[in-house]
Amino acid sequence: MGDHGTAGRPALGRRAMMALAGAALATAGALATPTPAQAEEALAVVATTGMIADAAHQVAGDRAEVTALMGPGVDPHAYRQTRSDIARMLDADLVLWHGLYLEAQMEAFFHDLEDSQTVVAVGEAVSENQRLGHDDYEGRYDPHVWMNPNLWSTVVVAVRDALIAVDPAGEETYRSNAADHLDEIADLAVYAQQVLASVPAEQRMLVTAHDAFNYFGATYGFEVLGIQGISTESEAGLRRIEELVDLLVDRQVQAVFVETSVSDRNIRALIEGAAAAGHTVTIGGELFSDAMGPPGTYEGTYVGMIDHNATVITTALGGEAPERGMQDLLMESM
Ligand SMILES: [Zn+2]
Repeated sequence: MGDHGTAGRPALGRRAMMALAGAALATAGALATPTPAQAEEALAVVATTGMIADAAHQVAGDRAEVTALMGPGVDPHAYRQTRSDIARMLDADLVLWHGLYLEAQMEAFFHDLEDSQTVVAVGEAVSENQRLGHDDYEGRYDPHVWMNPNLWSTVVVAVRDALIAVDPAGEETYRSNAADHLDEIADLAVYAQQVLASVPAEQRMLVTAHDAFNYFGATYGFEVLGIQGISTESEAGLRRIEELVDLLVDRQVQAVFVETSVSDRNIRALIEGAAAAGHTVTIGGELFSDAMGPPGTYEGTYVGMIDHNATVITTALGGEAPERGMQDLLMESM
């Protein structure tokens, strides 16, 4: 452990994040200020995606200072480590990445880093029989496991165990925080199941910019079509767009979705194509696929991200969901 905790901003607990997100923060006392002893001891944890950083933050609380390398809107398939990222990781007590070829451009780097640092690919905690494969990815798995809250729980447990391994003195705290967070994720899974079940059968088609939602589709019974493949690296062909336009018209799909971490160019081409064929398709909303919302907001947490997606998809495709989601914390519709 180093002295990293003294430099950065103090970590906010889950309740504090919720309170901030709800704009209902009345009591400064809710923001626990770390005691000097805690600040000195804070573990330096670096995570690649916002989702993994959120899991580490929820589980570690004030015991760790967690840094996410990829902020809102950043595409993990294309991201490469910067010089300052490398310095951070070399200085960290624990480095968490997703694996399953999500950080495709950084994979070799992480395998090298394993020689000197504690590096854990937490996405790979999901067992092989629970992973989805994909035609685009010969011999590999679809990495987007966070789209199923029950699978994400496995990842949270892996984050907890990685923290315990590098900081055994914090075991009790990590277990207790993880249990609370897992409860919240279980509630989220129930909420998503309930609202998405209200979408009429003929509207259960999710058309997005890239194939991030296969786990979502498998969990909630939606047909999922991405214009690009599972990675954002491939160019979508004109033929693929024409195919999808035909499908939108045939099936009278009402809405398609943009993603915060992928260009909306192809989605707009679909809408124009459908319009030319006399069928109106709207943008059903902006979904969080591979990155979360801004830090310090509810959508900037894993639970908020999935709550947002489930709520927006349900509403856009003719189902019934509370306007501001599971906990009444979502921003006005995006
Ligand atoms: Zn993706």
